[in-house]
Amino acid sequence: MTETVIMPGQHKLPPLPYPYDALEPVISEEALRIHHDLHHKAYVDGLNRAEVALVEARGRNDYAYIKYWENQLAFNGSGHILHSIFWANMAPVGTGGQPGLATATQINLYFGNFNSFRNQFMEAAEKVEASGWGILVWHPAWRRLELLQCEKHQNLTQWSGIPILVCDVWEHAYYLDYQNRRRDYIEKWWNLINWDDVERRLLLAFRGMVPLIL
Ligand code: MN
Repeated sequence: MTETVIMPGQHKLPPLPYPYDALEPVISEEALRIHHDLHHKAYVDGLNRAEVALVEARGRNDYAYIKYWENQLAFNGSGHILHSIFWANMAPVGTGGQPGLATATQINLYFGNFNSFRNQFMEAAEKVEASGWGILVWHPAWRRLELLQCEKHQNLTQWSGIPILVCDVWEHAYYLDYQNRRRDYIEKWWNLINWDDVERRLLLAFRGMVPLIL
């Protein structure tokens, strides 16, 4: 394994793996530009700012603002990680393939069948209170999947769960295209899923690993 380390304050906004208009008609070019270039960028900047502030705090041994910077670290760090997964989790309609062997096997083992998984995913994502995510995670400790809701980017998660498939249900992800019809957005978004990416993440997660975000 190559030893690439992301040092404090060195996070970068990853480019989208497709053109801005590639997810139309599910997600419009305008919505994707705002979401990626402005919202995701703000999380990267906020994470870098918090990390640098904490380097300085350690240097001065001054932790007067520790609660503020720890909160910024969690909020922006989780926002950066989840958006990086979210972009990779999607592909233009018709190109995302089918659930891979490991993905289909683990989904059937835990959720009974694919339709039960799909129905629970839709309900969980739709019913997130205010801003948040629907998240499929792999639990290294329990050797199985779980389906979670997350409020904001960092609340209500289970520590140790490795995100495999994430759905952004903040209003900035869909309001321009779908207004208040969150369920409609989630059902259309389902056609964007890149199952090859889901399978890749699950196979890595079996070994407790996640893809590097550069
Ligand atoms: Mn978002």
